[in-house]
Amino acid sequence: MTSTALPTTDDLRARARTALDTIGAEVAEGGDFSARTPLTGENLFGLTAATDAVAEDAIAASRTAFRTWRTTPAPRRGELVRRLGELLREHKNDLADLVTIEAGKIRSEALGEIQEMIDICDFAVGLSRQLYGRTIASERPGHRLAETWHPLGVVGVISAFNFPAAVWSWNTAVALVCGDTVIWKPSELTPLISLACDRLLARAAEEVGADRDVHRLLLGDRAVGERLVDDPRVALISATGSTRMGREVGPRVAARFGRSLLELGGNNAAIVAPSADLDLAVQGIVFAAAGTAGQRCTTLRRLIVHRDIADTLVERLTAAYGKLPIGSPFEDTTLVGPLISPAALDTMNDALTRVRAQGGKILAGGNRRLAGAAPAAAYVEPVLVRVDAQTDVVREETFAPILYVLTYDTLEEAIALHNDVPQGLSSSIFTRDQREAEIFLSAAGSDCGIANVNIGTSGAEIGGAFGGEKDTGGGRESGSDAWKAYMRSATNTINYSSELSLAQGVSFL
Ligand code: NAD
Repeated sequence: MTSTALPTTDDLRARARTALDTIGAEVAEGGDFSARTPLTGENLFGLTAATDAVAEDAIAASRTAFRTWRTTPAPRRGELVRRLGELLREHKNDLADLVTIEAGKIRSEALGEIQEMIDICDFAVGLSRQLYGRTIASERPGHRLAETWHPLGVVGVISAFNFPAAVWSWNTAVALVCGDTVIWKPSELTPLISLACDRLLARAAEEVGADRDVHRLLLGDRAVGERLVDDPRVALISATGSTRMGREVGPRVAARFGRSLLELGGNNAAIVAPSADLDLAVQGIVFAAAGTAGQRCTTLRRLIVHRDIADTLVERLTAAYGKLPIGSPFEDTTLVGPLISPAALDTMNDALTRVRAQGGKILAGGNRRLAGAAPAAAYVEPVLVRVDAQTDVVREETFAPILYVLTYDTLEEAIALHNDVPQGLSSSIFTRDQREAEIFLSAAGSDCGIANVNIGTSGAEIGGAFGGEKDTGGGRESGSDAWKAYMRSATNTINYSSELSLAQGVSFL
């Protein structure tokens, strides 16, 4: 594994400043918390978190804006999102710079994240003319039954550091065309990209004549998120992050009968069957396991390999892991950037210590890199670990690039191992046997929200609904009919006859 040179914190600060200035985003410097870069581990700017009064103002303004926005025709709401998409295209490079500086993503993945935002805007603009309700056959003569979809109200979006902009756009583009207003509490680890996105949306609103308060940004840590979680004026909390966070947020929102959409941790696996195309599998596995330095919710964390091909596959993966370039995500040749923080590295090392004690054998990686050049950063070699059993550490999500390799003899056993974890986000099978693929996709197969064939677990497109089961929280975002989570339905019975007939043959008067 090779390492590439790092930029200095001053370079990164200047580059972030240029991107923010080009976008027109202002950084009101303060002292509450800092924008930091995982590339060097050092602080970029001091920032001010939203106070309770600022949060109160945002909620009140968002409620007021909702009153007009909910009756603005949906295709006109789509015009705001179309303009946002155009601005995202125009500032793609600046936004990608901020994603790299704050989240540490390599260039192509940072650009991919912005492309995903553009894609969801395109999707949402189309959706703005397709918020369909159904007409239902009535049992009564001269009656019509209809299903109508209405906006919900204020949507609170709480997002994680690892998709610091895309998750916001999945929620916001769809919520806005659905007629909701949005208050965004981004990760405290990625405030700069949030300021940039908020500015572009404000510009889009100004240009199309929409109320600026259809979107508000609240910077700060979990306390600011909790403010939204507990406020009954926030109709829906869409929260993306760890299962720990979801366990706190879900019951609190439910206690006030609010709605929540939870997108939580994953512990994603791929089954590699004896008939798999191994060239394709190796490529798919390495991207899914080591890409984004193992910090995607859909990162491949468990590989369940048929015993007959396990040694061959492991040998090929060990060779591929040995060649991964690690270092500055701004270098074109780098494939693995930094972990978000030294704390993430500690968590990773703790998991490795535990898995060793449980019989795991490290096959490749695990060494820290660039500690001399950037002592406050956390660069690490992605790790491959052979395990005999799915022990407790394997069943947890460790948000770092560790891939556990297990073996199986029968497909039934592989599927049982696959599903025997608390999480249920993404999954895949590498096979050329159609029967096996179909079993994996069937009701008796993968129990995840995402199930793939001959492709890794990560890298979803926006056209499909995204989300997972069990400890992943059950939410669905982005494509398909995920928009329904941002609206409420009403069933209408319309009597156009001159008789009052009661359902179920009931007679009265
Ligand atoms: P995190 O849970 O630490 O924080 C996520 C967000 O929740 C942050 O904005 C944080 O301030 C806020 N928060 C935390 N506790 C809160 C509380 N009690 N009330 C209100 N807000 C609270 O997660 P992270 O480290 O930023 O992100 C990594 C995690 O996110 C991983 O577990 C990953 O799998 C998950 N994730 C899931 C998806 C998905 O779509 N399923 C997508 C991205 C990330």
